[in-house]
Amino acid sequence: EIDQHYRALSVETFSQRLGEVEAVASRVGGEPARWDIREVGDGNLNLVFIVSGDVGSVVVKQALPYVRMVGESWPLPIYRAHFEYYALVRQAKRAPGIAPEVYYFDKPQALFVMEYLHPHTILRRKLIAGERVAQLGETIGQFCARTAFRGSELSLSSPEKKQDVGLFSGNVAIPAITESLVFTDPYYAAEMNHHTPELSPVVDELRRNARLKAKVQRLLMKFTANTETMLHGDLHSGSIMATDTDVRVIDPEFSQYGPMAFDLGMAVANFLMAYFSQPAHRQESELAAYQTWILDVIEACFTSFDAEFRHLWQTERTGVLFPKALFEEQGNSADDACDALLDEIRLDALAYCGIEMHRRVLSLAHNADFEEIEDPALRAKLEARNVLMGQALIMEPEAYGDLSALMELAKAYS
Ligand code: ADP
Ligand code: MG
Ligand code: MG
Ligand code: MG
Repeated sequence: EIDQHYRALSVETFSQRLGEVEAVASRVGGEPARWDIREVGDGNLNLVFIVSGDVGSVVVKQALPYVRMVGESWPLPIYRAHFEYYALVRQAKRAPGIAPEVYYFDKPQALFVMEYLHPHTILRRKLIAGERVAQLGETIGQFCARTAFRGSELSLSSPEKKQDVGLFSGNVAIPAITESLVFTDPYYAAEMNHHTPELSPVVDELRRNARLKAKVQRLLMKFTANTETMLHGDLHSGSIMATDTDVRVIDPEFSQYGPMAFDLGMAVANFLMAYFSQPAHRQESELAAYQTWILDVIEACFTSFDAEFRHLWQTERTGVLFPKALFEEQGNSADDACDALLDEIRLDALAYCGIEMHRRVLSLAHNADFEEIEDPALRAKLEARNVLMGQALIMEPEAYGDLSALMELAKAYS
């Protein structure tokens, strides 16, 4: 149900509607009528405005009651913005300094006001342009570890966790999108799918693989039924903004409680897709060095996830799970249990990674890394490598849990 007072913002009505909101007016400054207002939403779903004045700038994001990239024929409840706001607030606590700071939330209007990230740009654009970002893998790995650990019963009390799972279970429309677009549609001729025609032989073979489909559905079962931690839920390279030295994560509107490995796997998949698309975007002379840098980012992402998770395990295990007293009474160490859990997360992350690699070239929402390759034959060739590596990761993640084996696999397909 849309609140009867809900109205979508526009550049024309913006200063009239938000001019009196202190959180905006004080940070933007000057006469609202003279504010510079730009709608910059390049995503698939929402309105995003940058508003600037004498003092500074803020960003206003408002949910639309339909899927923007498709149109009003695909309605989508605006209350998803409430969950994006709840997720941003939790991320700020669990992984400080990474999500944009939120200044104001208007529930009936399904909008919130946040920090303007500047001069940050979308990471996907940087990866296509061949730019490097310092500490990229480290920051994303650490972000995933902190949010995974601190949003779970390793950290939270039982009532606190259950209450939050209850809250987020109200976000009923969003998970269905991930369940179909990410996990299911790539593996059959779903209505909204599209792919590069030259890729068809590879796609046909993938869709004949019944064991693959079954494995993916088992991972979907974990994704739907498991509430281990609060996920970002959409941690692709279009949800990361960066400068040369600073990394931030935006857009958690697909947030839900789910398996600890999911965000890590999706982030790594997007690094791998950047890797596989590079031959279309780089000069031969720069290609090898840049691809090596991307592989280093992936390695750092996994390594820092593990290091940070282990650190939190040792220093912040205050929740329901693996209580210290249970182990310490007999002088047992819980370190092996942590290592075993990390092994399991690694393998699940690799499998989720494979699925994300598939859906971005086979399902509805593709990514610019491949989509902007104009020559369809070259696009199909690079997409095929990506699809085949994704399949290997889903079918046999245990073969690539060792990072050097994972790196060798990526190189073997490129
Ligand atoms: P959607 O949910 O529709 O995908 P996003 O939250 O991804 O919307 O935002 C769309 C675009 O708006 C981003 O790609 C980015 O360019 C810009 N943007 C979003 N949030 C910010 C921010 N806090 N600071 C600067 N730019 C932002
Ligand atoms: Mg987005
Ligand atoms: Mg395509
Ligand atoms: Mg979004």
